[in-house]
Amino acid sequence: MLREIEKRQDRTRRKIVRISEQIPMVGTRAFGIVDMGTNVIELRPTSLCPLSCIFCSVNAGPRSRVRWAEYIVDPDILIEAVREVVHYKNCKRVEIHIDGMGEPGTYPYLVELVQGVREIENVQVISMQTRLVTFNERKLAELAEAGVDRFNVSVDAVDPGRARYLSGTEWYNIGRVIELVRFVVESTRSDVIFTPVWVPGINDEEMPRIIELAKSLKIGKKWPPVLIQKYVPHRHGRKVPTREMSWNEFFRRLRELEKVYNIKLVPSIEDFNIHKERSLPIVYRRGEVVKVRIVERGIFVNEYLAVPLKLSGSTVHDRVITVIASSKLEDLLIGQRVRVRIVENRNNIYIAEPLDF
Ligand code: SF4
Repeated sequence: MLREIEKRQDRTRRKIVRISEQIPMVGTRAFGIVDMGTNVIELRPTSLCPLSCIFCSVNAGPRSRVRWAEYIVDPDILIEAVREVVHYKNCKRVEIHIDGMGEPGTYPYLVELVQGVREIENVQVISMQTRLVTFNERKLAELAEAGVDRFNVSVDAVDPGRARYLSGTEWYNIGRVIELVRFVVESTRSDVIFTPVWVPGINDEEMPRIIELAKSLKIGKKWPPVLIQKYVPHRHGRKVPTREMSWNEFFRRLRELEKVYNIKLVPSIEDFNIHKERSLPIVYRRGEVVKVRIVERGIFVNEYLAVPLKLSGSTVHDRVITVIASSKLEDLLIGQRVRVRIVENRNNIYIAEPLDF
């Protein structure tokens, strides 16, 4: 599967970058660890995806025209990074949520990653966001055995044609996805919940069908079975020409569906046991100038990955920085030491502009 995706990515002239230990695991959304200051740690092993969903907020997959790099992270580096962050947070009930700017199922070392993370003290839950399309029954049984507690399965339509259309992929087969969900629920220790994206005007009539499917499959034994996401257009994401729902309208319609189908669709944070925990330290402030080495392409065209010249060797304190500069400067920039100014820092995700070019 990985080789097939690599071939497809080649055709779009994207570079697949293997992330080694020289690059910090915190600082970008494209790979590594994202910390939102709670007991849930997001783990992002790869940005590869075989689908091209028409609403994809991160513009992944073969049809993307705005990405020029994809990443695969060495599993040992990720496991060690998680160990450090869990230790730093010093809380008892950590959830590791494997997701990313791609489909985690494309990651070739997924079972090893789950096994490694499972052994870390205080990791209570391992969950994974997936569309299941890269898995078969054997792989799902291995992942369940390795320690996945919950698969958050993105199912956006039950009707096969509508599901194919939303996935932007001719070969997408919702029937097979449902078969795999049934297998997980009936034959493994893992739970499943559905996490559809509601794109108004495109899959309105599919939401009731997804709820009914969830009920008939008896998913969501420990968690609310359906967690509907609101379609929100993003800066780099693929846009659907539709009217965006306001948050008020979204929640009102969820409450209406709750009444009709006698199901909880607006979960409380207690349902998923999410609570505030110690955040990783903010290392750079906006406006701060940092000396870095540009090491690789960033995920989107006109972005580069940069590593500060001064590193501590600790995941808790080291950051990778995304530097915005023209893709035409690639040959000149990669490998260079430059000064950059931090222009954005949200949740320890750093964006900078170069000062020396
Ligand atoms: S929404 Fe998920 S599965 Fe679909 S293209 Fe984006 S990353 Fe891939």
